[in-house]
Amino acid sequence: MGLLVVGSVAFDSVETPFGTVEDVLGGSATYFSTSASYFTDVNLVAVVGEDFPEKHINFLKMRRINLDGLERTGGRTFRWQGKYGYDLNEAQTLKTELNVFEHFSPKLPEHYRDAEVVFLANIDPDLQRDVLTQTKNPKIVAADTMNFWIESKRDSLIETLKHVDILLINDSEARQLTDEPNLVKAARKINSYGPKTLLIKQGEYGVTMFNSHSIFIAPAYPLENVFDPTGAGDTFAGGFVGYLANTMDFSDIALRRAAIMGSVMASFNVEDFSLNKIRDLDYKEIESRFREFKKLSHFEDI
Ligand code: AMP
Repeated sequence: MGLLVVGSVAFDSVETPFGTVEDVLGGSATYFSTSASYFTDVNLVAVVGEDFPEKHINFLKMRRINLDGLERTGGRTFRWQGKYGYDLNEAQTLKTELNVFEHFSPKLPEHYRDAEVVFLANIDPDLQRDVLTQTKNPKIVAADTMNFWIESKRDSLIETLKHVDILLINDSEARQLTDEPNLVKAARKINSYGPKTLLIKQGEYGVTMFNSHSIFIAPAYPLENVFDPTGAGDTFAGGFVGYLANTMDFSDIALRRAAIMGSVMASFNVEDFSLNKIRDLDYKEIESRFREFKKLSHFEDI
């Protein structure tokens, strides 16, 4: 039961035009789990090093995220260093240190294996498949990836995609993965790799969801203050997949609602550095922004 996620738990060092932070809590699985924890029970699979402080573990526990699959081992925690210019849509990776992830071989706790919904957050595609093969029979498998893995492990990534129902990816990664500049054509090509549903994230321009029979566009919430887009994609995924895991409804209508919930969660996340804004949201704030989204793109036909 529940939602299973594998991905990075990290220390991030980030520079934006509005400030700099060093070795703050980050990682694809961290952002995802925190966001999804507002909707469902989350079981996390990842590894951290001996330098990972207890306060971060306590925070994840405070969000009721199951950490039975979080291994602690000798060595340093995964580190990512990135930079954004005034165009906050694209991160420039300055450094990626895999550290303890380099030799991580996850063993899923028995009670994780019958997860109905699995999210393969951004991490080595070999590791994504390793986790997936240990699950029994998930109803839905969703995944994310990034240019780092498209460049370094393309064949493995294509293999993983054969087992994925829903892929979340940003626009430049969709183009890079398919060698196709047109996003509609790129989406169709990715559909042919395996995922029946594809969500292409376009930062402040929102998200386009491609299904075999429909296209849906979810806007991004127009914010006056965006401080740090790090984790926006993972937080979107947490809202989207968390909402689906809560309802277990995968109809077109439910997928559209879930895409809006993803946008709601991502909009909170970018308002502050690290996970500061999404640590402890009031569910009423989430609902109220969800309703704002409805107003944003509603119009009357003549
Ligand atoms: P996002 O901004 O949603 O694309 O994700 C940012 C998060 O991804 C950061 O917190 C990083 O720690 C993490 N990250 C960056 N590069 C990688 C990578 N190659 N593998 C796994 N996680 C990564």
